[in-house]
Amino acid sequence: MDCIFCKVVKKEIPSTVVLENENFLAIKDINPQAPTHVLIMPKKHYSTILECKDSDLLGGMVITASKIAEQLGIAEKGFRVVVNTNREGGQTVFHLHMHLLAGRPLSGVMG
Ligand code: AMP
Ligand code: ZN
Repeated sequence: MDCIFCKVVKKEIPSTVVLENENFLAIKDINPQAPTHVLIMPKKHYSTILECKDSDLLGGMVITASKIAEQLGIAEKGFRVVVNTNREGGQTVFHLHMHLLAGRPLSGVMG
């Protein structure tokens, strides 16, 4: 399957890894929209959040985002997590991922 994030997960495409565990890879976004912009992706391919019915995995993705926020020291000041879904949701890469944004006041749709 020709999926850019599957290639990132397999390290066929280089990325800056923030955290890796059994189920997730978290990397720095290549085109950051805030001083901190991390993408948390399941290693397993789901094209959108709609396709994933694994509540443990979805819960794990949120907990992983929180852990990263704590590790980066941004938890107290605040952050935003976003899962863009399908065309009007602004999704451009069809491998499920969660954005973690922080480091400046966030307003508007994506900040
Ligand atoms: P979305 O629009 O929610 O699908 O988000 C896709 C995100 O992936 C965008 O913020 C892109 O900047 C980011 N992105 C695309 N390709 C890469 C890559 N190779 N490494 C890191 N981030 C990427
Ligand atoms: Zn994929």
